[in-house]
Amino acid sequence: MTLETLSPSRAGDFKTCPQLFRFRAIDHLPEPTTPQQARGTTSHLALQRFYELERADRSPNRLYDLFRQAWGEIRNEEEFTDLFASPDEERQWGIDSLELLANYFQLEDPNSFDPLERELDLLEPIGEGMMIRGILDRVDRRTDGRIVITDYKTGTAPPETYSIPAFFALKIYALLIRRHLGETPVEVRLLYLNGPTMYRFPVDDRQLDAMERQLNALWSAINRAIERDHFPPRTGPLCNWCSFRPQCPAWQNLEALAG
Ligand code: SF4
Repeated sequence: MTLETLSPSRAGDFKTCPQLFRFRAIDHLPEPTTPQQARGTTSHLALQRFYELERADRSPNRLYDLFRQAWGEIRNEEEFTDLFASPDEERQWGIDSLELLANYFQLEDPNSFDPLERELDLLEPIGEGMMIRGILDRVDRRTDGRIVITDYKTGTAPPETYSIPAFFALKIYALLIRRHLGETPVEVRLLYLNGPTMYRFPVDDRQLDAMERQLNALWSAINRAIERDHFPPRTGPLCNWCSFRPQCPAWQNLEALAG
């Protein structure tokens, strides 16, 4: 078996913990959906549709309506059933979600621009025999003609000093755009609705060339791991949120030692 495509999320998994990558990308083990993930999915859908509206119609109330409409459409899908213990819990989740979306208007003025692309699904050959797939939340062309990539986050922003790893996926998106449009984006931005906080990071060809080399090395390392069936677990703070802890050999060994 060899890898056919790589996404920024799976590349990040392999960097963080090869065993986690195996659970997700090779074994395709199911993971439970959390209310926070449901909020992220619904908010992304609402924000995507928000920019189909005329500029003058992009008000907070229209965004809230789009969130309610999106949730109504997806709430019965299998991954979102049994998410809430009671209707009251679901209602409170909805209220909290709308409060989060209200923060969006503190980050940027949606009446002042029209995105170039939303939810842009790209699959591009990068480097040596590597196919990279990414879905970009939004691509804008600034008034000076330069391209900016924006990613929405519904979780809490990390402190700025820890925000650099969060740009890993965005730099891969920038590479994809460079390949797709033949233009180098000038900036990538993370919009954290919880806060709210915006982090911006300038990009250039030199950085994207370095990212391409890093991805090539990662692609080779992943294919070597597949050949040898060697995906060592790498324990760390992420284990506290990892849904595969019960299946993870690292934690089974620890429990055996403790027992
Ligand atoms: S529990 Fe920790 S070591 Fe195990 S797969 Fe998850 S992140 Fe990796």
